[in-house]
Amino acid sequence: MSIVADRIKRIKLSPSVAARAIIAELREQGRRVIDLTIGEPDFGTPAHICQAATAAMARGETKYPPAQGTVALRRAARAQLLESTGVDYPVSAIIVGTGAKQVIFNGLAATLNEGDEVLIPAPFWVSYPDMVLVNGGTPIAVPTTPATDYKLTPRALEDAITPRTKWLMMNAPSNPTGSVYTEAELRGLADVLQRHPHVWLMTDDIYARLNFTDTPTVHPLQVAPALADRTLVINGVSKAYAMTGWRIGYGAGPDELIKAMAILQSQSTSGASSVSQAAAVEALSGPQDCVTEFTRVFRERRDLAIAELQGTPGLDIVVPQGAFYVFPDCAGLLGRKTPDGKVIHSDTDLTHYLLREAGVAVIDGHAYGAPGTFRLSFAASLDDIRKGCAAIREACARLA
Ligand code: PMP
Repeated sequence: MSIVADRIKRIKLSPSVAARAIIAELREQGRRVIDLTIGEPDFGTPAHICQAATAAMARGETKYPPAQGTVALRRAARAQLLESTGVDYPVSAIIVGTGAKQVIFNGLAATLNEGDEVLIPAPFWVSYPDMVLVNGGTPIAVPTTPATDYKLTPRALEDAITPRTKWLMMNAPSNPTGSVYTEAELRGLADVLQRHPHVWLMTDDIYARLNFTDTPTVHPLQVAPALADRTLVINGVSKAYAMTGWRIGYGAGPDELIKAMAILQSQSTSGASSVSQAAAVEALSGPQDCVTEFTRVFRERRDLAIAELQGTPGLDIVVPQGAFYVFPDCAGLLGRKTPDGKVIHSDTDLTHYLLREAGVAVIDGHAYGAPGTFRLSFAASLDDIRKGCAAIREACARLA
């Protein structure tokens, strides 16, 4: 009999963790590998944010913080949320967690009963289905296609809703596709949700500030404020402020939901690190030019990656509008043969080929709910992006 709970057997290790192990192994053998799998900014946390953490320690802010988050951070989050969603949440309706990831997890854990369905537009961030599964829910992937730039359509949403649907999860700009919704597109989706009052909306806005279009990311609540009484908004500091290791995220929503999440948190982590929360206050309330600069650098890298990959035979590429990933469709390469005669049957075969033959690590797309695709990250140096994308283009061209 296994010691491991059945609930845990439903889930698996994330593919980026698995990729990291293979890259380490190859590098140990002396192979040069360009790593385009990274899911975090390669910049250091800006100095003024680090200084705020040091100052908090010097002031003695090293005791248990309130389980729901410090009032200072919830106030700073309130201002950020007002700007991004148009909703003025009282601090009692805001909860701070150990990364956006834990806030999403808590939101699901606090609400899912066995068999409740959660709609997840595919391609999706790999963790969503597993977080639903471990909490007893049923993840329902709702496919999207390159024809709609991988965006959910009102028709697909309408068709996926059943009486058991509890949540629709949305993530824009998306990991892995970089898709960003327009106001009109969100209005179409909001109209469907308005016809189905039992469906709640969870928006994962972690990449919202890393948007390369001329207009800020539009939030569904700006388009349909009436949905606020059944929406959980999630955001955090990891991506926009290069603070992945500080582990601070936050969520805002109706009182009953946030209270349930706070109770759960009080019996699990007791809240996020006090020092990290002080740093996050400075991130949200201090100078914002670092975010502008990170976005400019990511846009430049996006442009380089697209320029290098464009025209690669067999790859169909939707230009990402935000976040830091390109998500090529490689269905056109399946069935082709490598120079040594091996048939590429799947995206996994292709990513293995790219790693072994081109020395470039990317992640196969089936983990994102999209077989026949792969994800490459441009959270890497311009030099690595140029060399890595050129190597991908040349290796793909060698497939016959
Ligand atoms: N949502 C998405 C879509 C992500 O890609 C990530 C990080 N990979 C997270 C949430 C988690 O963010 P955090 O570091 O704040 O937990």
